[in-house]
Amino acid sequence: MGNLPEQNELPSGPARPVDGSGYDVVVVGGGVIGLSVGWWAARTGRSVAVCDPAPGQGSSWAAAGMLAPLSEASPAEAHLYPLAADSLRRWPAFAAALADDGGGDVGLRTDGTLVVAAGDDDRRALAELRDRMAAFDPPGDWLGGGACRRLEPALHPGVRGGFEVAGDLQVDNRAVLAALQSALATRQGELIRSAVVAVELAGGRLPGGRHRVHLDGGATVEAGWLVLATGAGGHTIGGVPAGCQPPVRPVRGDIVRLQGDPGEPVLGRVVRAQVDGRHVYLVPRRNGQVVVGATSEEGGYRTTSRAGAVHDLLHDAVTVVPELAELELAEVCARLRPATPDNGPVLGPTAAERVAVAAGHYRNGFLLAPVTAAAVVATVCNEEMPAVAAGCGAGRFG
Ligand SMILES: Cc1cc2nc3c(=O)[nH]c(=O)nc-3n(C[C@H](O)[C@H](O)[C@H](O)COP(=O)(O)OP(=O)(O)OC[C@H]3O[C@@H](n4cnc5c(N)ncnc54)[C@H](O)[C@@H]3O)c2cc1C
Repeated sequence: MGNLPEQNELPSGPARPVDGSGYDVVVVGGGVIGLSVGWWAARTGRSVAVCDPAPGQGSSWAAAGMLAPLSEASPAEAHLYPLAADSLRRWPAFAAALADDGGGDVGLRTDGTLVVAAGDDDRRALAELRDRMAAFDPPGDWLGGGACRRLEPALHPGVRGGFEVAGDLQVDNRAVLAALQSALATRQGELIRSAVVAVELAGGRLPGGRHRVHLDGGATVEAGWLVLATGAGGHTIGGVPAGCQPPVRPVRGDIVRLQGDPGEPVLGRVVRAQVDGRHVYLVPRRNGQVVVGATSEEGGYRTTSRAGAVHDLLHDAVTVVPELAELELAEVCARLRPATPDNGPVLGPTAAERVAVAAGHYRNGFLLAPVTAAAVVATVCNEEMPAVAAGCGAGRFG
């Protein structure tokens, strides 16, 4: 990131005056989604800029990095499973391409997930959940408490049982964000650390049929294609026609990071637990951290954490894995998941010419990054989106 312009170094005129033609693609928003789309577009040879005053600091900063279509599947969201499963399959190649473009190691892990029940009611509920999951893809057999502890010896002796979801992957979210920024730079994409305050859509009026993007501070950039990838934000951008920004609501999530000894990892895989009806997940990182998440609260744009929410997370984590109480409390963080009315993302073209959208990824933005990049870059290249993304159009909300 060393050669990227700081906000106060931004030119006062067009950020890329070159020959006056601007960029092929300007992406508004540099979370995992905007960066993935920008980098993937740059790999096709398009000139790309991603605009964000604080790239990677939104929802993407908080994410646990689980790539878990099956563990996250809920019957109410059955329509999303094919998209999520498709994106999971794309992840190994996506991670390899990031490494090829100088992004380094994103911590892709293939140890899978162990889902466990803390009490008897939790065991009944998880057994039912496991049966419902079989409609998507059969998880592993039901295991007794002893068998769970043989897989994860740090589990509390009282754990009643559970099952494995072997196909789940995980990445280190912050390593992915750093990798995407490096890879974007490798592919000559630019990261402009400024907010977009307004857009002027071409509508035939601007020379060359280009959109003009107005940045905070007065600079402008021009774009052949505009991609809106502002997560749960972006609603204050002027000039965006009705229907182009999807109906995204913020759903706050609190998450805690505990620091352990990398040489003595407490857990070997992701553990998801149900504790007195509440859900908690424990995601071990190679650096010894264990990510404990996450709450889910509708309403408002607050990104500070309630003490009670953090208490519940830690209580449930320690109930399942007592040793976690000995780890250092490294970080408490809250961010806003961008959710749509049907909890599915909005991908692809909008009603406005050469304006695409990539937003509303709710609990699965990391999981869905590869298929999102493929779908939106197909749009800006005037190609067919992957068939699995056909139901994700902006038009479905009217
Ligand atoms: C606690 C928690 C745990 C999670 N765990 C997982 C997980 O394990 N796996 C998973 O797949 N997903 C997970 N998610 C969900 C995932 O984090 C999101 O779906 C994903 O980060 C959304 O990415 P995004 O790029 O759309 O949004 P963001 O990361 O929020 O990025 C949007 C960006 O747009 C920028 N922006 C807004 N307005 C403007 C503007 N006017 N001009 C320029 N830029 C602008 C913001 O600065 C921001 O950087 C989790 C989320 C939370 C909160």
